[in-house]
Amino acid sequence: MNLGLQNRVVIVTGAASGIGKAVATAYASEGAILALADINLAGLQAVKKALKGAKVYIEEVDVTKEAACKKFIENVAKKFGKIDVLVNNAGTALMGDMEKFPEKIFRQHAELMMYAPVRLTQLCIPHFKKNGWGSVVNTASIFGKQPGGLLSYDTIKAADIMITKDFSSYCAAFNVNVNAVCPGPVDTPLWHEKGQLGDQLAKATGMKKDEAIDWFAKTNIPMGRYAKAEEIANAVVFLTSEPAHYITGVALNVDGGMVKSLI
Ligand code: NAD
Repeated sequence: MNLGLQNRVVIVTGAASGIGKAVATAYASEGAILALADINLAGLQAVKKALKGAKVYIEEVDVTKEAACKKFIENVAKKFGKIDVLVNNAGTALMGDMEKFPEKIFRQHAELMMYAPVRLTQLCIPHFKKNGWGSVVNTASIFGKQPGGLLSYDTIKAADIMITKDFSSYCAAFNVNVNAVCPGPVDTPLWHEKGQLGDQLAKATGMKKDEAIDWFAKTNIPMGRYAKAEEIANAVVFLTSEPAHYITGVALNVDGGMVKSLI
């Protein structure tokens, strides 16, 4: 299948690690032109180095900052003359005490995973209109469809699915599709790095980190394993491809069978 992504200008946020890095790599293999944003500049530099041969622009961007997002989008448009695809992927997660979950962190997570995708989509819309074509994918989560016990995360990822739906209705008139991917647990640094989900799960279960991570997959995921980041990237790339352009407003589970609902 020809995905029609050759020379498409693709923005990926949170591209220094995990799913974002795999997404960038998958687009590079399709001949797309990449504009990668992250707060982790060293990580972006490493991704750019690994993608030698591809056209890649990197910028240190904190997507929670309005001015930084604006400057980034202007820089990408100036550098490549157009913007075709936006992948809103930057994010994080935190388990927490349901009675004491800090409001400050809830607000920070909303800035990162809810307002930033809205802001970046709004900033890209004029460019999509100019092209007469565009495509957006938001990295939501299955925990936007069913609770996973992460208060801010579940709430915000559910909002991401609704944001996807609303923008898909609005953007259809000018030939832009807007979809979400809903990964189940994915084997990325978000589970393994110090203080991240693996440590949080170990604390909650009393198990050792690796044991807790393994136990979670075996007891919750029908396929019995975490997704590889590349498996999420494949879905993202397909949804923004030419053959998938009529698909819009979808929140596609990529979860080894974990979501049980019919929608
Ligand atoms: P990750 O920690 O490997 O990567 C997240 C990236 O986002 C990092 O490079 C980080 O530096 C970047 N980032 C964080 N804050 C930022 C900011 N303010 N501005 C710019 N960049 C910022 O995590 P991942 O697992 O690859 O997660 C990517 C996305 O996938 C997130 O939205 C996450 O919620 C979602 N997701 C992950 C899983 C999973 O199990 N790993 C499951 C479902 C959804």
